[in-house]
Amino acid sequence: MFSFDYPLIKKKLSQRRNIIITTHKSPDGDALGSSLALFHALSSFHDVSVIVPNDYPHYLKWLPGNNNVFIYEGNEQESDKLINQSDIIFCLDFNKVYRVDTMEVVLQKNQSYKIMIDHHQDPDDFCDQVLSNSNIASTAELIHDFLKEIDCRFNQEIATCLYTGIVTDTGSFKYSGVTSKTHEVISYLMKFDINHTLIHNNLFDNQNKSRFDLLRVCLNNLTLIKEKNAAIIFLKEKDLIEFNYQKGDSEGFVNFPLSLKNITISIFLVEFKDGIKLSFRSQSDFDVNMFAKKYFNGGGHKNAAGGFLNYRNIDKALDYVRTCFQ
Ligand code: 5GP
Ligand code: MN
Repeated sequence: MFSFDYPLIKKKLSQRRNIIITTHKSPDGDALGSSLALFHALSSFHDVSVIVPNDYPHYLKWLPGNNNVFIYEGNEQESDKLINQSDIIFCLDFNKVYRVDTMEVVLQKNQSYKIMIDHHQDPDDFCDQVLSNSNIASTAELIHDFLKEIDCRFNQEIATCLYTGIVTDTGSFKYSGVTSKTHEVISYLMKFDINHTLIHNNLFDNQNKSRFDLLRVCLNNLTLIKEKNAAIIFLKEKDLIEFNYQKGDSEGFVNFPLSLKNITISIFLVEFKDGIKLSFRSQSDFDVNMFAKKYFNGGGHKNAAGGFLNYRNIDKALDYVRTCFQ
């Protein structure tokens, strides 16, 4: 069992502290939205840095506070120094320390007080305090709860960041984890005069042409395992090169096959230089978290998970995926 001791955390935050906020590699809207919301909430009183393991897509770079985000990859020495000088590290939107990629070493060695706020199942034991609830659809919703508990004054910037985290991690309020409380939180955030139409436009209507080209290729590759109600799509490295792949271009591709009648499981593979990245989604009782954990060195949630295969060649990976269904 993990503990979350609000009185102790409030006491720690009652003095000016050096604080680091970090999140998982290839940060998404929930990771960045949660991190920047917490940054805005704490930086009026504390010295706060947001450090993310690597770069993130252009459609998240409009978030208020984006200029304050350090990228670890390429700035390791400076970042390690900041991390080692910190009193408190917030670990947001990840449950396993390997999810910070090359930041893992400094995070493990470092003696700062660590606070995890996350919504993935089975958190590892690397933090002093753990606020974890896998029934909540986004970390941003948990950050809202946390900020209320520590008596934070909300403002438009905090509300914009949290709205972004919630809307991206709920598939625009569609996924099963959405509750009446999620909508109550959104209702509260809207009181801070946020421009929700602009947020949606920035996130979803601001895509690269390369994304469209790659989507075309990807959907052309569709194969079905009908008896399992499963669909597989993929992109090869040569496609990424030909269509000038930019970070984030294939975000959400895994969801497209789910719009097919009778398809309740979707798998998306991308062949990168160092191996194959897989995404899994389900709309049934099929637990992709378990599936990703068992066969693909990964994990996530029951209906959305990711994994990785150390294969050089996508055809071999596709064969392996098919055998996992037998
Ligand atoms: P995506 O398919 O968008 O990369 O990931 C879907 C979900 O699975 C996200 O919640 C993400 O945090 C989680 N996830 C993706 N890759 C991994 C992984 O390698 N390990 C674990 N534990 N979770 C992952
Ligand atoms: Mn999340």
